[in-house]
Amino acid sequence: MHTKTIAQLSQGLKDKEFSSVELTQHYLNRINQSQLNAFITVTDDLAMKQAQAADEKIASNNANILTGIPYAHKDIFCTQGVKTSAGSKMLDNFISPYDATVSHQLNNADLVMLGKSNMDEFAMGSSNENSYYGSVKNPWDVTKIPGGSSGGSAAAVAARLSAFATGTDTGGSIRQPASLCGITGLKPTYGRVSRYGMIAYASSLDQAGPMTQTAEDAALVLNVMSGFDEKDSTSAEQDVQDYTANLNDSIKGLTIGLPKEFFSEGLDNEVADNVMAAVKEFEAMGATVKEVSLPNSAYAIPTYYIVAPCECSSNLSRLDGVRYGYRCEEPKDLEDLYLRSRSEAFGEEVKRRIMIGAYALSAGYYDAFYLKAQKTRHLISDDFKKAFENVDVIMGPVSPTTAFDLGSVKDPVSMYLADIYTLSANLAGLPGMSIPAGFAQNLPVGLQLIGNYWSESKLLNIAHQFQQQTDWHQKMPQEN
Ligand code: GLN
Repeated sequence: MHTKTIAQLSQGLKDKEFSSVELTQHYLNRINQSQLNAFITVTDDLAMKQAQAADEKIASNNANILTGIPYAHKDIFCTQGVKTSAGSKMLDNFISPYDATVSHQLNNADLVMLGKSNMDEFAMGSSNENSYYGSVKNPWDVTKIPGGSSGGSAAAVAARLSAFATGTDTGGSIRQPASLCGITGLKPTYGRVSRYGMIAYASSLDQAGPMTQTAEDAALVLNVMSGFDEKDSTSAEQDVQDYTANLNDSIKGLTIGLPKEFFSEGLDNEVADNVMAAVKEFEAMGATVKEVSLPNSAYAIPTYYIVAPCECSSNLSRLDGVRYGYRCEEPKDLEDLYLRSRSEAFGEEVKRRIMIGAYALSAGYYDAFYLKAQKTRHLISDDFKKAFENVDVIMGPVSPTTAFDLGSVKDPVSMYLADIYTLSANLAGLPGMSIPAGFAQNLPVGLQLIGNYWSESKLLNIAHQFQQQTDWHQKMPQEN
């Protein structure tokens, strides 16, 4: 059962080949046997209850296409009555009193939550090594990282521990782990999916999306995740389309832009070869290719690594040991309570970013760092605006290399370089995808698609057409 896509599972449930209870039990068994550390919390009891309820709906012909499908929910989404840790010791004792809008939408679609997936602490990282709950292992090679920050979600889908997973992408955290684990991941346009109840990292960049085996599945999940939400002031009042409606459109005449800056120094040769082979496949399907330039993409890393820490230093200030979350033992006074609670419960990378952010926002440095970063952010967006005057979609690599060894990247700046191709889409607020496009060094390689604002439907169509011609998305790692 676990090799099936959502679309196939849905058919199987409808045809009574298996029940949601059987399917859910099957995934729970797989999770129990897995050594990947993909989950922080497994919600067995809740999952079985939801599966029973789903089976009743199926029996009484009240089911929708997602009824009874089991999934992994990134532990950054608040889930009422279930621990929501964001991968941090700070929230190890936090049982959310309410549901995030996304959690609510998934519940309303009668989906079955298997558990909360592992992640880098507060979504800060590119390797999932910053989790308080330990690293996640890449299912293709357990000595490698799965990518981050949605590493647990990516590993769970790749290892078929769940039919799909949710992720969030502030600077690449859906696309990069999707690429390194060989699955499909979609980061929608900023404002498409509600951020309400999604623990904030960098509010002007954060966006949630589906992590699935196929583009068709991503469309099915995006259909229920997206939509205007009055509880999120940055949520867009854009109509929700049926994202499955255009999957089968022909892509003849599509114009693909290849940014020359995405194929320069630092990109692994074999990764580049795979990406170019995928582009050739599109040409064979009737697309044309043009070189484009995103001249300011060199500033994506410095810009992002000012904007994101500034926003996180503000967002994480609420975690002070007073209201909820970790509190140090026997504080002497209020200052000691703040100081020790935060020192004891935040990990190193989170502290580093809070300090960088607080520094960059301080009077005297604000103009030199934060304001400057906001200006370069604008330039990066303008580059895309120009490029999209001539092309329909931009393609390139997701990550400069395949998955690297656990523990091998020790200095933070080298880790930030892993994000070089993903950050620009977040800074501009554009939708982006990673789709499986080959293997290098026996590890998966993803192809990145970046579209214009609100072009999710087009991206899914392009990805689906590619998946009709190739079988990279069907490859599965060995059991471990
Ligand atoms: N790797 C990036 C960071 O550490 C992106 C993380 C994300 O998208 N949440 O900030």
